[in-house]
Amino acid sequence: MHEFPIQRAGQCKPKPDPSTLVFGRTFTDHMFLMDYHQGQGWHDGRIVPYAPLTLEPSAMVFHYAQEVFEGLKAYRRPDGGVQLFRPMDNVRRMNDSCERMCIPKLPEDAALAGIQALVKLEADWVPSAPGTSLYIRPFIIATDPALGVHASHSYLFCVICSPVGAYYAEGINPVRIYVENEDVRAVRGGTGYTKCGGNYAASIRAGQRAEQQGYAQVLWLDGVERKYIEEVGSMNVMFKVDGAVVTPKLTGSVLPGITRRSCLELLRSWGLPVEERLISAQELFDAAQAGRLEEAWGTGTAAVVSPVGEMAWNQTRAVVNNGQIGAVTQKLYDTLTGIQWGTLPDPYGWVVPV
Ligand SMILES: *Cc1c(COP(=O)(O)O)cnc(C)c1O
Repeated sequence: MHEFPIQRAGQCKPKPDPSTLVFGRTFTDHMFLMDYHQGQGWHDGRIVPYAPLTLEPSAMVFHYAQEVFEGLKAYRRPDGGVQLFRPMDNVRRMNDSCERMCIPKLPEDAALAGIQALVKLEADWVPSAPGTSLYIRPFIIATDPALGVHASHSYLFCVICSPVGAYYAEGINPVRIYVENEDVRAVRGGTGYTKCGGNYAASIRAGQRAEQQGYAQVLWLDGVERKYIEEVGSMNVMFKVDGAVVTPKLTGSVLPGITRRSCLELLRSWGLPVEERLISAQELFDAAQAGRLEEAWGTGTAAVVSPVGEMAWNQTRAVVNNGQIGAVTQKLYDTLTGIQWGTLPDPYGWVVPV
């Protein structure tokens, strides 16, 4: 099928102690590369030693941010094997991002095979301590050395890997979040549904403000009416109100998270009522005031689920479930992490062995 040449690193780095890992600082010995040139398509998939890239200062990505990325993890199973969680969903979503950014789509099978081949070569880097994993970061950058504003004619697809420690090394502690009224993350017609660096660049200021005021995350409102809840930080968000789980619908400015999708599928399979719809901040805080907001949590690959213990909006505060993790949040966490790390069976066909 897909065979990629491997140029091995002359010297391999020592594996870090998983208890000291800081997210995204340590990288493995190799990376996967594939080039695109107009007329040739995507070509020359290969594994090479992890090393700096050489680009012209005029490379388009530096100026106009024509770039997309993804994030997924490889997990160490109890039997010592390594597996990925719904990796084809990441490849497909990357192609959806590409379409928005006028980046030529990747051949999906080759892209997944490249990720697989890299993780297989780096399998010793997948840590085995509880809660640890190997974070995989595929990305595509526009490489034309040209300042004209148009789509690049050449691109680089690159995959790097980073061992990550347990997200909840100190136990799952619900976080405090606040509604951001000024900055918006995305707007209708914009790039909110894509994983592109520009979305993140635009979100950093609000994140800093939240941190300065003692909050862990920003609760984003829609960019048009500043009324409806969209996401929390760089996670999707869900609320349990009156026994039903409500989550913002995918309007185009919300990122279609794979953890979000997996949670919705689990919740539906458990027979819980699930609603994907618009939720205004007013509705949410009214429900909280009336004691009907039972749980709140964010979802994403890094944290899996992140319970929310307190929300602030202007001068209004709402404590959720006495600041404790709720039962549905806990069950989602236990089920998803069980499937991801292979300690629970996977009746959904979500995991892919490496
Ligand atoms: C990646 C991302 C998510 C979560 O997606 P997962 O596929 O669940 O990891 C949510 N929101 C934003 C803005 C993201 O970039």
